[in-house]
Amino acid sequence: MLDKVLIANRGEIALRILRACKELGIKTVAVHSKVDADLKHVRLADETVCIGPNSPTDSYLNIPAIITAMEITDSVAVHPGYGFLAENADFAERVERSGFTFIGPSADVIRIMGDKVAAIDAMRKAGVPTVPGSNGALDDNHERTIQIARDIGYPVIIKAASGGGGRGMRVVQTEAHLINAIAVTQLEAKNAFGDDTVYMEKFLQTPRHVEVQVLADGHGNAIHLGDRDCSLQRRHQKVLEEAPAPDIDAEAREKVLASCVKACKDIGYSGAGTFEFLYENGHYYFIEMNTRVQVEHPVTEMITGVDIVKEQLLVAGGEPLSFTQDDIIFRGHAFECRINAEDATTFMPSPGKVTTFHPPGGNGVRVDSHLYCGYTIPPNYDSLIAKVITYGKDRDAALARMSNALDELFILGIKTNTDMQRDLVADAEFQRGGINIHYLEKKLGL
Ligand code: ADP
Repeated sequence: MLDKVLIANRGEIALRILRACKELGIKTVAVHSKVDADLKHVRLADETVCIGPNSPTDSYLNIPAIITAMEITDSVAVHPGYGFLAENADFAERVERSGFTFIGPSADVIRIMGDKVAAIDAMRKAGVPTVPGSNGALDDNHERTIQIARDIGYPVIIKAASGGGGRGMRVVQTEAHLINAIAVTQLEAKNAFGDDTVYMEKFLQTPRHVEVQVLADGHGNAIHLGDRDCSLQRRHQKVLEEAPAPDIDAEAREKVLASCVKACKDIGYSGAGTFEFLYENGHYYFIEMNTRVQVEHPVTEMITGVDIVKEQLLVAGGEPLSFTQDDIIFRGHAFECRINAEDATTFMPSPGKVTTFHPPGGNGVRVDSHLYCGYTIPPNYDSLIAKVITYGKDRDAALARMSNALDELFILGIKTNTDMQRDLVADAEFQRGGINIHYLEKKLGL
């Protein structure tokens, strides 16, 4: 069992990790930027270290400062949360080289999954369904490239191998634009990611975003915890998620879940991970794997009873998984609404002092949030301030609870997107289930 864990993150996920550590009797170290000294988990941690000024580059992304903090506090492991350094293979490597444990898969696995061409290749070999595409990087043989696009059929999408956060992608509708679009994407990719490798995929027009949660222990055991639907997105940012994904072909689901488990074993995966798919007309298409805990992990916890963060800590400490696949029983349905500090119409961040915070409660309601009355949200970081999660015996029951929970939520002093979430929960098409990834932007008139 790990003795002391340093939490290299902030906000709600840092608090989530701290809670799991405390339940397991693990000592905690909170590192924070100057402005973050008042964060809730910083106040609750056993030890705290200020690692730098407010800019993320100088603090939460400052690898030497974090490793030094591990040394001076005698921490044995670091939990990276999500964002910041969570999928940085160099960080994982330096942590391990310094004699500490990185809570996540090995640096090699992170590196493969961070290179989309390599990741898709590994998945195809493991039998995970992928998007019809170039099966590798595009080279400067234009005739070959044109032929690949003809075989796939237009529209196609050109994607940067090192891309992330929805950047480095370009849709091409006709052959006349293909070669130029590739050149522009290569140039952008070079500037943004320092790598001009691009590849081609069929562009799916109305897919849903369905993802599979996995856990593996590096001792050959791997299980899945079912799927989630995260199709409600704005600018590739998830807004409202649910588990399980509604209205999915049962046979296709079983096959894809099994293929994800097999892939974990094939690549020697360890820890929590997510396989992201586009789902269209009963078919799954792998797009990427996230090698970390995700924002939306609570919906899976609600329907399985598994504490994903605790499992991450146990596995990193060398324990086998606490569960076999047969132990996992899926019950009911869960939703998560992400509450952001932002203007409802412009989506501009709205930092500032929270004068009132009344979280909702009651049976089947969970709120993951670092807010408290009097807390000042700094302008330097992501605007996610709370996750409202509800559980019900079925989809309708969970949705009815979400509607109540949002009505009970009061956050004053700053602007939030709570009203938009209320509108979504009341939306007839969303209530029917199975909307595609363009639905929210269309509804918002974007
Ligand atoms: P990132 O790492 O930047 O998030 P992804 O590969 O996960 O990139 O793709 C981000 C989003 O781009 C997807 O959620 C989807 O909306 C869209 N997208 C990516 N590939 C395709 C495709 N082949 N067809 C249609 N949409 C796609």
